[in-house]
Amino acid sequence: MTGGARTQVVVIGGGQAGLAAGYHLRRLGVDFVILDAQSAPGGAWQHVWDSLHLFSPATYSSLPGRPMPVQTGQTYPDAGHVVGYLTEHERRYDLPVQRPVRVTGVYRDGQFLRVETDSGLWQARAVISATGTWWRPFLSAVPGRADFRGRQLHTVGYRSPRDFAGQRVVVVGGGNSGAQIAADLAFDTELTWVTQRPPRFLADDIDGRALFDAATARRRALEHGRTDTGGVASLGDIVAVPPVREARDAGRLKAAPMFRRLDRDTVVWADGTRARADAVIWCTGFRPALSHLAPLGLRGARGHITVEGTRAVDEPRVHLLGYGDWTGPASATLIGVGRPARDAVRDVAAMFA
Ligand code: FAD
Repeated sequence: MTGGARTQVVVIGGGQAGLAAGYHLRRLGVDFVILDAQSAPGGAWQHVWDSLHLFSPATYSSLPGRPMPVQTGQTYPDAGHVVGYLTEHERRYDLPVQRPVRVTGVYRDGQFLRVETDSGLWQARAVISATGTWWRPFLSAVPGRADFRGRQLHTVGYRSPRDFAGQRVVVVGGGNSGAQIAADLAFDTELTWVTQRPPRFLADDIDGRALFDAATARRRALEHGRTDTGGVASLGDIVAVPPVREARDAGRLKAAPMFRRLDRDTVVWADGTRARADAVIWCTGFRPALSHLAPLGLRGARGHITVEGTRAVDEPRVHLLGYGDWTGPASATLIGVGRPARDAVRDVAAMFA
């Protein structure tokens, strides 16, 4: 396949990471387009569960450009507020987002990269991939999962405790999603919360602000060749946001160890203890949504693409933005993606110069 529309940069994904890149591309006067698979602005924030609030205040949740306004009556903004903020960001900076457009593959094509989509072809001199992780839920391999007759869903399928009222629900996972969804269900269901290791709550007075400070300290330490501070991971896993605190303090958030297997209507622990379950909710994380880059053959060990900063080592015309700490400390957060986005765009612009 040849031809297609030509531009300097194709940004794949129109969530916060894609918009942060768009803001900097606009500022530098680069010709670009953002292709986004969703039909509306907001990326993954459009799909999270009803009660989700950010783990940091609005002032710690801003993209480059316009700061996120405070949500009236809320210290921690809800997902709807984030969607509104991202929508306005696109409009204010006149970002050329095309949606819904799903990129199916990126190919080398001489001096260009060919970007194939479900609605046409693009040729670009560089690609910034910002497709997030929400679209690739990870489920751990547990014996008997296929035999379980109850309902099974991943974090991405969970909406509200109303869907499980009075049921026996097992929530799997000791990260923030697991703790928050367990807290959401704690008062309306017969809840069992299981975690691989005992849950590690951050101190109650620590929220996303401290996480970003820790991430910044880590970045600085690494930049200056000092010892790795351990960053966010050194503080704990779970931010004790108000609903988590409430459920924990009411004694409803006691974690059991991970079970060994699933049966038709039961979870079974290693010592033979059993608990009947109507539903199992797997809060077991995500993986980067990178299948569109498969034709470039960039994946290394553990499925990650090796990067220097955000640039793919084996294809310097490709940058990765968001996804996790491996593309920059805190780069998969609202406030943290600004810096790697700026660096990626500078790198791309320097290549054109
Ligand atoms: P996304 O929001 O997933 O956007 C990616 C976009 O790319 C989507 O629109 C998607 O449809 C599109 N896309 C994917 N594949 C393709 C393709 N092949 N072609 C075209 N488009 C494609 N961060 C914070 O800062 N504060 C928080 O409080 C916070 N809470 C979180 C709570 C949860 C439950 C989760 C999961 C994450 C949270 N995060 C938080 C982390 C992070 O901010 C979000 O995950 C955020 O959505 C990441 O933005 P993104 O732009 O990288 O990806």
